[in-house]
Amino acid sequence: MIRILVVTHPYAGNDGNINFELIRKAYDLSKGNSADVKILMMEKFSDELIQLYKRYGGKNFLIYEAEQELEYICYAELIAQVCRKYKPNLILYPGTELGKAIAATIATILHAALIADCIDIQPLNEDKYSFSRTAMNDSIIAKIRCVKDCIQMCTVKRNVFEAKEVCSIGEENIEFVLSDKAIQDNQVPEILETTENIKTVRDCQIENARIIFGIGRGVLKDDIKKVEDLARIFHAEIACTRIIVEEQIMDKSRQIGQSGKMVSPDIYVAFGISGASQHMVGLKNAKKIIAINRDKDAMICKYADYVFIADTHKFIACMYSDFVGD
Ligand SMILES: Cc1cc2nc3c(=O)[nH]c(=O)nc-3n(C[C@H](O)[C@H](O)[C@H](O)COP(=O)(O)OP(=O)(O)OC[C@H]3O[C@@H](n4cnc5c(N)ncnc54)[C@H](O)[C@@H]3O)c2cc1C
Repeated sequence: MIRILVVTHPYAGNDGNINFELIRKAYDLSKGNSADVKILMMEKFSDELIQLYKRYGGKNFLIYEAEQELEYICYAELIAQVCRKYKPNLILYPGTELGKAIAATIATILHAALIADCIDIQPLNEDKYSFSRTAMNDSIIAKIRCVKDCIQMCTVKRNVFEAKEVCSIGEENIEFVLSDKAIQDNQVPEILETTENIKTVRDCQIENARIIFGIGRGVLKDDIKKVEDLARIFHAEIACTRIIVEEQIMDKSRQIGQSGKMVSPDIYVAFGISGASQHMVGLKNAKKIIAINRDKDAMICKYADYVFIADTHKFIACMYSDFVGD
C-alpha cells in the first residue's frame, strides 16, 4: 500500500495556496493506485478549512491541536512521531523558508531522503518516485530517485503545481493525532550549535556585471583588499572560486561555476585561478578572459584570450601603484 502524507502549515501563505497545490498533487499521485493520502494539519483546525481542503482532493485528515506555539524543532519531532506511526512512503512539504528548515530536521530524524525545491514528482514503480529539480544555477533539470528503502520527502515552492479543484470527494475522515504533551523531553532533538548566517555586506550582482575580477587560491589574503580597490576603479565586480568560499574568505553569492553562479561579462580577469572545469563552466559566456598565473601550463591559460605569466602579488602591486597609488 502506498502512503502519502501532505503536511499543511498556516504560514504557508495567507490564502493557503501552497497547501491546496500539495493536496491536489497528492490526489493526482493517488489516482489509479489507491494510495492512502493523509493530510497532516499543523494548523488551527476548523470545519471550514477541512471543507476547503476537500475541494482540492483532501479526504483523510490528521489533526494536530496546538496548545502552544512551539520551536520549529519541536514541530519536526511531532511530525516525525506521526510518520513513525503512519509510515508514509512519500511526504510533501511546503517549500517556504521555515517549511524547508522543518522538513530538513524531520529528514534528519527519520533518515529520510529529502529533495528540496522540487518542480515535478512522477511515480516510478511501486512506492518509488522520480523528483525533478533544477541544478547548476537553473541551467539543467536533474531527475532524482531514491535508491534506498527509506521515506522520500520533498519540499515544493508555491505555484509549481496547479491548485485545481476536484469533483466531489465524499465523506471526510478526521483523526486527532497529537498534542504537545506527546513531546517527551528526551525526544526533542538537542541543538548543539547554531551558526549565524553570514550575509553579503553588499548585495552582489555578478550575474549582470560587465567586468569581473575573479579571485583564486593564487591570491594572497592581504592582496584581496587591493583587488577590491582596483575593482571599484574599473567598475568591476569581485567574484571567486569555490576554494575561496570554502575558506570563508568570500560569500557563496560570489562563487562562479558549477555549484555557484553563471556569468557573462565582457571581461573576466582571473587572478591566481587554475581554470578547473567546474569553475570555467560558469564562464562559458564570458567574452574575453585575461589570466594572471605563474604557471604557464595552468588550464586557465588554454581558455584565456590574454595571459600574464606572473606572480599575482607582484602583478597586483604594480596595478595598484599605477591606478590607486602607493
Ligand atoms: C562537484 C564540484 C563542484 C565544484 N564547483 C565549483 C564551482 O562552482 N566553482 C569553482 O570555482 N570551483 C568548483 N569546484 C572546485 C574546482 O574543482 C577547483 O578545485 C577550484 O575551482 C580551484 O580553485 P582555484 O583555481 O582558486 O585553486 P587552485 O586550483 O589551487 O589554483 C590556484 C592557481 O593559482 C596559481 N598560483 C598560485 N600561487 C600563485 C601566485 N603567487 N601567482 C600566480 N599564480 C599563482 C596556481 O598556479 C594555480 O593555477 C567544484 C568541485 C567539485 C568536485
